[in-house]
Amino acid sequence: MKNGVMPLIDDTYIASFLKTLLETPSPTGYTDAVTRVCCAELERLGVSYEITRRGAIRARLQGGRRQPARALIAHVDTLGAQVKFLKENGRMELVPIGHWSSRFAEGARCTVFTAGHGAFRGTILPLKASGHTFNDEVDTQPVAWSQVELRPDIVAENAEDLAVTGFNIGDFVAIDPQPEFLDNGFVVSRHLDDKAGVAAMFGAIKALVEGEVQLAVDTYFLISVTEEVGHGASSVLTHDIASMVTIDNGTTAPGQNSREFGVTIAMADQTGPFDYHLTQKLLRLCREEEIDHQRDIFRYYRSDSAAAIESGADVRTALVTFGIDASHGYERIHMHALHSVARLIHAYAASRVEIRRDAEPLTDSLKGFTGLPMDPANEESWDGRDEAPERPSEGGQN
Ligand SMILES: [Zn+2]
Repeated sequence: MKNGVMPLIDDTYIASFLKTLLETPSPTGYTDAVTRVCCAELERLGVSYEITRRGAIRARLQGGRRQPARALIAHVDTLGAQVKFLKENGRMELVPIGHWSSRFAEGARCTVFTAGHGAFRGTILPLKASGHTFNDEVDTQPVAWSQVELRPDIVAENAEDLAVTGFNIGDFVAIDPQPEFLDNGFVVSRHLDDKAGVAAMFGAIKALVEGEVQLAVDTYFLISVTEEVGHGASSVLTHDIASMVTIDNGTTAPGQNSREFGVTIAMADQTGPFDYHLTQKLLRLCREEEIDHQRDIFRYYRSDSAAAIESGADVRTALVTFGIDASHGYERIHMHALHSVARLIHAYAASRVEIRRDAEPLTDSLKGFTGLPMDPANEESWDGRDEAPERPSEGGQN
């Protein structure tokens, strides 16, 4: 609390909902349970929603007008694995769900969900797991999914034992997130991508509902369940949504401008630049609301925005991220980023409509069509003086 004013965003709520999400296994393709968790929370907040056949959620806060509708989206599915083969040594070969290195699977505790015989616990281990047997070979074996196997915590000496117990090819494997919420604000866990984004979105929804904020237009909060395999938003978008802001992780690696604090606004990813007008609006809201922020560009990165555009939707997209260290590995974030992202979502949802023409998908004139800054910069013309031109002074960046 600052000067006795309650902060807009309830960080305790965000952290506790994030914990609930992390406790609910949800590798892509095995997400029904986490869909229920999200729907129950929407009900508790008094927000109406629809669910698609496969469990993506479309929650709606009603605005003064239906068009041009806005959307925010985050994904609740995570990386995981599937049983590829029952091995003769009583262990199981795996294939990854989503793109992640087996390097980060080595040593992971996990749960295998069989179709009719319950869930079993196990560990993913390198094929040469024992130093006492393999000596230096432990350090020289390659990193690949073919180099690891799942050891179930049951009596199984061969493939038949596995089959009799109920294991089968295709069983889903959920990796334990092992979350730690530290008092200093850091959260260390797997699957913060993108459960932390979902939690931040719920933090914003709660603030909008409790603050009884009047929204200019209908605002959808979408939760996708197939982002890690690339489909994501394509199934939950409706044609009336004119702009969509994706909430996902930003990568705080060397050479990146992302930080674990504040909001990181992506200007482009591997699918190209984000919508200029929507992105500039988000940057302006950050400045107006004094939300800590930075920009970044991601090279090997796609999100729900890409899925929406590639599915043919004519929708403006932007990407708002919370900085994550070691994405798709042993991830770490800071609550400050989630707090900042929730503030920005809140500000965006509460903002007025600037491009009214977006209410119509197609129009027969340029009336109300957007423009881009194209004028030459305001520069002094050279007057032939003796002194060299001066270096620029502060004030150019925004
Ligand atoms: Zn991801």
